[in-house]
Amino acid sequence: MRKVVKFGGSSLASAEQFKKVEAIIRADEARVYVVPSAPGKRNSKDTKVTDMLLHVYATACDGKDITAEMEAIKARYNEIIEGLGLKNFSLDADFEEIANSLKTEPEKDYTASRGEYLNGKIMAAYLDIPFIDAKDVIFFNEDGKLNTYKTQRMLGAKLAENPRAVVPGFYGMGKNGKVKTFSRGGSDVTGSIVAQAGRVDVYENWTDVSGFLTADPRIIPNPKPIKYITYRELRELSYMGASVLHEDAIFPVRQVGIPINIRNTNIPTDEGTW
Ligand code: ASP
Repeated sequence: MRKVVKFGGSSLASAEQFKKVEAIIRADEARVYVVPSAPGKRNSKDTKVTDMLLHVYATACDGKDITAEMEAIKARYNEIIEGLGLKNFSLDADFEEIANSLKTEPEKDYTASRGEYLNGKIMAAYLDIPFIDAKDVIFFNEDGKLNTYKTQRMLGAKLAENPRAVVPGFYGMGKNGKVKTFSRGGSDVTGSIVAQAGRVDVYENWTDVSGFLTADPRIIPNPKPIKYITYRELRELSYMGASVLHEDAIFPVRQVGIPINIRNTNIPTDEGTW
């Protein structure tokens, strides 16, 4: 049995959350491929790192000074690195590269994608397993759609060489040779693509709710999780606005019959939705 485990932003928002994720991964040796999002909100007033990156990109485009914003983003990561006690590990060189790109030729998708890229590097160091840069294995066509054939071939070969690995979510390589992202929430799509290419048995999607619920928890208190749901029902719900899973995350696994299990990082004993 082999599984892909994708963790959303709230599951990786702090060192404390990273520790929960590590415990989840260590608890089941089938959890071989890890797909992280960028750090999300630590509390309701917090800002997602992806939004901070998109903001600094806009600041750079306006020709304004980016120092303070870059420092704030760096602080988010350094808090995680220090909280995990990672020695001999630093993202300083990466931050320098990002700042340089913003100062010379700011690119929106490249900048936005760094949230996942940097979080993936931390995750790989923390778990001590290889890091596979998504830009080397996930490819888009000229029209912006996923190049499924090339991606499955390249990603499949890379996964075959690496029995365990971290693949950051949300981005790949565009036809122009530059980093391109999926739409927001796209790390779910990466998880699904990795599951398909790795021919795993289960795609576990770890978030901050115990699966699909019978009602919107912001309106109805304590709705029950749904135990089983069909791909068709799930896609319909995502399409209608249920924000648990990106709608494009269904197709790749559905095609090859891999079940998705939506789970709660904060209550890992809950079975979630299948
Ligand atoms: N970090 C990206 C976003 O905020 C992608 C993701 O989390 O799936 O949309």
